[in-house]
Amino acid sequence: MLAELSPALIAEVQRAAKILADKKCICILTGAGVSAESGIPTFRDKQTGLWENYAAEDLATPDAFARDPKLVWSWYQWRRQLVADKTPNPAHTTLAQWQQHAANNHQQLTLITQNVDDLHEQAGSTVTHLHGNLWQNRCSQCDTTYENHSNRLANSKNDMVFDEDLITCQHCGGYIRPDIVWFGEALPVQAWQTAEEAAANCEVFISIGTSSLVYPAAGLAQLAKKNGAIIIEINPNPTPNTIVDITLAEKAGIIMSLLMQKITALSSIQPLL
Ligand code: NAD
Ligand code: ZN
Repeated sequence: MLAELSPALIAEVQRAAKILADKKCICILTGAGVSAESGIPTFRDKQTGLWENYAAEDLATPDAFARDPKLVWSWYQWRRQLVADKTPNPAHTTLAQWQQHAANNHQQLTLITQNVDDLHEQAGSTVTHLHGNLWQNRCSQCDTTYENHSNRLANSKNDMVFDEDLITCQHCGGYIRPDIVWFGEALPVQAWQTAEEAAANCEVFISIGTSSLVYPAAGLAQLAKKNGAIIIEINPNPTPNTIVDITLAEKAGIIMSLLMQKITALSSIQPLL
């Protein structure tokens, strides 16, 4: 696999590893691209099957739910079915190992995600979710939270059934919706505060698998840069992020595996105490 990487890209990964190996405070923001190698489509991928005539951005909004709750609920049940049997890829597992390594070496590595899947947690990471949790629901009227019952009743992920019928709140009768931050909605206060603090105080900010189009999350890199951080971006495709110091233009799983190998090698020469 490494043979396919250009010498220039390998040299850039080495440069990133050298910068990262002696830093005490690192902030990492992940987006849908980090889960792409696990088989979960990003919002920029074309939708398939029944949903191919819809844009994700037109379904993940409060207006869409107000207009046609059944349509939006069905889409989320379909997405849950799609994600249910997916497992972490090397990008998730490497990030979890790195977090462990950092904790053992008195480094602070804060992981923030825009993703609503739980693949970072499945890999063993501690992660702050900016955009909510695909496996939780809440009432669209009174905000009471509900666990996604299909998730809990099933013996295994393959047994899960995602019923497309709308369900209503047992307190107020309002429609139950996914507990996800839709386009145009405010981010959870505590999660956003954690993200802002980590971005403002880090020495290196790494953006992985995000198009950098969705604000306010996309502004975290700018906040980090303003406070003197070095910015690294991992994404096979270009983004509008113009403040990047090191671009690693390959899939997250490939780059993270190589980066971790190089950081580990450097750390064994210079133990991080
Ligand atoms: P996005 O869909 O806007 O962009 C995905 C980015 O990932 C693109 O820039 C693409 O070039 C890059 N990418 C694709 N494959 C990659 C790979 N193997 N390695 C690294 N990068 C890769 O996603 P976004 O920036 O996260 O923002 C859109 C919104 O999409 C977020 O609010 C998020 O909640 C939601 N979303 C989440 C999931 C999920 O939870 N897995 C999936 C789809 C969308
Ligand atoms: Zn209610």
